[in-house]
This record gives sequence, structure tokens and C-alpha cells, in this order.
Amino acid sequence: MNQLYRRLFYLAKALGVLLLLCWLGAAPVQAKEVVIGVFAYQGEQASSADWLPVLSYLNHALPGQRFRLDNLDAEGLRTAIAEQRVDLVITNPGYYVAMEYEFGLSRLATLSSPLSLSPARAIGSAVIVRADRSDLQVLSDLAGKRLAAVAPQAFGGYLVVARELMHQGIDPASDLKELRFLGLPMTPIIEAVQSGAVDAGVVRTCLLEQLAGQGELRLADFRVLSPRQEDGFLCALSTPLYPDWPIAVTRATDRALAKQVAQALLNMPETAGGLSWSVPADYQPVHELYRELRLAPYAYLRANTPQALLRRYWPWLLGLLLLLVAWGIHTVRVDHLVQRRTAQLRDSLTARDTAEAQMRGHQEQMDHLSRLSILGELSGNLAHEINQPLTTIGNYARSVLRRQADGRLSAEAVLEACTEIDNEAQRASAIVRRIRHFARKRPAVRDAVDVGLIAAEARRLVLGLLMHPPAIAIEDQSPVQCEVMADGPQIQQVLLNLLKNAMDAGRDLPPQRQGIVLRLESADKRLLVHVIDQGCGLSSSDLGHLFEPFFTTKADGLGLGLPICKTIIEAHGGRLWAELNPQGPGMRFSFSLPCHATTA
Ligand code: ADP
Repeated sequence: MNQLYRRLFYLAKALGVLLLLCWLGAAPVQAKEVVIGVFAYQGEQASSADWLPVLSYLNHALPGQRFRLDNLDAEGLRTAIAEQRVDLVITNPGYYVAMEYEFGLSRLATLSSPLSLSPARAIGSAVIVRADRSDLQVLSDLAGKRLAAVAPQAFGGYLVVARELMHQGIDPASDLKELRFLGLPMTPIIEAVQSGAVDAGVVRTCLLEQLAGQGELRLADFRVLSPRQEDGFLCALSTPLYPDWPIAVTRATDRALAKQVAQALLNMPETAGGLSWSVPADYQPVHELYRELRLAPYAYLRANTPQALLRRYWPWLLGLLLLLVAWGIHTVRVDHLVQRRTAQLRDSLTARDTAEAQMRGHQEQMDHLSRLSILGELSGNLAHEINQPLTTIGNYARSVLRRQADGRLSAEAVLEACTEIDNEAQRASAIVRRIRHFARKRPAVRDAVDVGLIAAEARRLVLGLLMHPPAIAIEDQSPVQCEVMADGPQIQQVLLNLLKNAMDAGRDLPPQRQGIVLRLESADKRLLVHVIDQGCGLSSSDLGHLFEPFFTTKADGLGLGLPICKTIIEAHGGRLWAELNPQGPGMRFSFSLPCHATTA
């Protein structure tokens, strides 16, 4: 029994292994999917139909792979490559070049079609016009005309022609009257040319011939601008020929798969439509086109070259240049004017300084002369004044000598005589010192001075010089002590002049009319000094001429004293004026000076 069970067990085990082997042998091998991204410029349907023979061939030739077409527009294809959703890429030469740069696509083979001369010379464009447009013969005739094309990025539908137009000196963006993009298919472009809606249209080579062959248009109705002769090429064209569409792999594509696909495609027999694949063509001419048009991957050239900037911004640059030139001229002119005016100013300042220096010199000279003149007038009795102490000194000296001879000279007598002699000598030398100080020639200065002290000094000088001086009373009625920034001797000169005039006015009058009052007041930060006499006074007509130079009523007068006083006071920021004495006969001369500082 056990043996039977064991045999059955072995039989079942053998059957199981057999079944497993059968199942394994019968199960189909899971083929890997390979996605071919195709630029479907004419739509999904047309694209699928175009590439079906290639797809079928690859699926047949490489049974380990399952090839699938993914028909995409330009942006869709770009995204699919970026996201590594495609293994193989079939696209036009323009997009291939752009994506070769951007994603590292590398071509495996280039399409070979029956209409092309070779895979390297396959794609071009014809610029068509109506046959009756005799004004349009070459591409350069399109300046200022309306042109229809497929799209701004369409390789054969625009860019190839754009490059030729640039070669002819026409910038399609600015030199055409209108650039109209009508998209795909290209037949509306032909219709727009025929109807006159545009002057010319861009179509791929051989399209006209193809439609004419199908009886959809008459070739004689159209003409191609700047027709080119390409030996062996059967269709009319206006541009050079560029390489045909490539099939390419991405960076992520399996290298073994790439090799298998390349080998398979190169071995692919011609399809019914005459398509086959050949070794990869040279896409350098496409690169050159993109570089010249400064499109991606050469878009960076557009922004940076000096020529591009010059071409784009020349009106602005010209304006800027003119502005700079105008500014330069203006600057030079202003500079010249400034220099001329500065020189003039310097000259006139120098002239003014010289004149001022001369005036100052004259003023000082005048002041000096005026002081000497005052002294001259006041010191008629100077000799007498000096003589008095000298006589006294002589008397004392003689008295000492006499007493000595008589033998009566006591020590007390010598002491008394010497003291008196010393006193008199000091008196004489004080008079001389004051005169010398007053008469000294000196430049004007400004010091803080006490006008009260100056008035007292002036009074002393007058009293010292005259034999019969009048009574001069100083009345300081100022509630505050006013300090004045002034040239002390000049102020003293003014006071002496006014005192001398006051004395002259009372000279021939009784003594009670000869008294003079020198009064000091202060108000509103100004010091007021009045010199009041009771003399002869002045008529109102003379009063009007009082400060005019050379006005004098005196036989020996100069008429310069008062004008000089006025100049001195005004130079100190003050004012000098005269009026009839409001409190009696005579005159009142007053001057004011600004207080520099006041103390109570
Ligand atoms: P001068 O004393 O040389 O004449 P001034 O310029 O000092 O020159 O004075 C001009 C004139 O003003 C005097 O001739 C005199 O007629 C008049 N004058 C000046 N002070 C008095 C005064 N206190 N009273 C009357 N007349 C005066």
C-alpha cells in the first residue's frame, strides 16, 4: 500500500513538473515597449499614416521590442523628451538641432525620400507669387510687401526663407508690410497668393508640383521668386536644400536598442512610397541657419552682439549720440563762458580792491589831514600852554639858585621846588603825548571801546589846548553801559570836530552862550551822542547843505570836517545828523552807533 502511494506521489510530481515546463514553454515572452515620438506637423492621422510602414518594419525586424508611435506637436514632443517618455524621436531638421542642443539627442539615421537629391539635400522652400506679378522677380522685391508663411518656428514653412531674406538685406520682422502666419496645411497659403490677399507665400518645395499633378492647380498661374538651379532636383525652389528628417535617440535610450534600431533602419528596404533610411546626414547647415537667425539654441546671440543692438536701437543710439554731442557743446560753451566771466570778475575784483585800497589810503590821508587841521585850529595857544609849565619850572629853578646864593636853601624848599618842577614837567609832557597820539597816522581798526571815556579824553584835549576853553559838560544819561565796536581815535576825531564847530559857533557870543553839553544816551541797542551848543545856529537853507563837501560859512573854513565825520560814523554802522537845538538857541549835532554789548 505504502509502495503504491509512493509511486502515485512520484507520478504526480513528474506530471506537475511536466505541466510547469509546458506552461513555461507556451507563455509568450513579454516584449519591451519602445515609444517613437514623432513631430506630427500635419496632425495625428496624417503622421500615423506616413510613419506606419516604418513602424511595421521595426516591429517585424526587432520582434523582441514592441514599437509604438506617439504623434505630438512641437511643444508636446519637447515635453515628452524632457520627461523621458520617448525612446526614439523623428522630427524635422530644425527641431532636431534645437533639441540636440537642449536634450542631447543624437541622430541614428536620416530619411531618404524619392524627391530629394540626397538625404543631405532634401528640404527647401519655394516663395511663390502670382504669375502676373511682374513687379516681383527676386526675393529682395518683397521689401514692403505682404508675405504668408506657416508659423514663426516652421523650418521649411518659414525659417529657410527668412534666412534668405536676411541675406538680401530684408529683416522679415520689420521690412515687410505684413508677415501673416496661416499654419498647416499649406494650401491656404497658395490660395491667399492666388486671391491677392498676400503678395507672396512660403511653401515647401515640390508642393506646387504635387498639387498640380493631382490637378488641384495650374503651375502656369504661379511663379517662384529667385529660382535656384539644383542639378537633378525636379521641383522649383528659392532656397538652398537642407538635410531631411532624422531619427534620433535621447540620452536615456538604451545603447543596445539604439544600435539594433540603427542597423535595422539602414537595412530597411524602400517603402511603397519610396522612403528609406541612410547614414546620418551633416546637420551643420541647419545649425548655421539657426545661428544666423539667432534662434534657440543661438538665441543668446540675438540679445548680446553689438551689431544686433545697433540694428535694433540705432534711432535711440543716434538720439543719445546727438544728445551727448549737444551736451558736450553746451558744456564746452558754458565752461568757456564761466572762464571768461571768472576772468572778468577777477579783473573787476582786482580793480575794486585797488580802488578800495586807494580810497582807504585817501580816507586815511584825509583823516590825518583833518586831525592835523583840528589840532592846528585848536592849538593856536599850544606854545603858550607848553610855555606855562616851562616858565613855572624856570621860576622854581631860579628860586632854588637864589636861595642857595643867599645861603637860605633849606631841605624843605628844595623838596617843594622839585615836586612842582616834576608836576609841571608831567603836565607839559601829557599835553604833548595826547597831541602826538591824536595826530599819529594809522590804519583804521575795530575795538570794543567806551564812548564815555573817549568823550572825556576829547574834552581833556580841548581843555588842554585852549587858553580860554568854554565850559564842556558831559552828561551820561545812558541807563546801561553800551560797548561799541569802533576805531577809538576816529570817534574821538568826530567828537573833536563837533566840539570845535560848537566852540566856533559861540566864539563872538557872551560867555553864557559858549557852554557846550556832551550828552550820552542809549536806546534800542544804539548809543546816542549829542553835542549841544547855544551858538549862532544856522539858517534852514544852510542846514540843507551842512554835510556837503566844501560847504563852509567860515572865512578860513575848508568845509570837510562834517562830511568826514559823516563818513566815519556811517562806516561804523551809525548815523550823523544835525538840527536846531530844541532847548534853546544854537545847534544840536547827534550821532548814533550800534551797541556791541550792554551791561547794566
Ligand atoms: P568848516 O568847519 O571847515 O567850515 P565843517 O564841515 O566842519 O567845515 O562845517 C561846515 C559848516 O557847518 C561850517 O562852516 C558852519 O557854517 C556849519 N556849522 C557846523 N557846526 C556848526 C554849529 N555847531 N553851529 C552853527 N554852524 C555850524
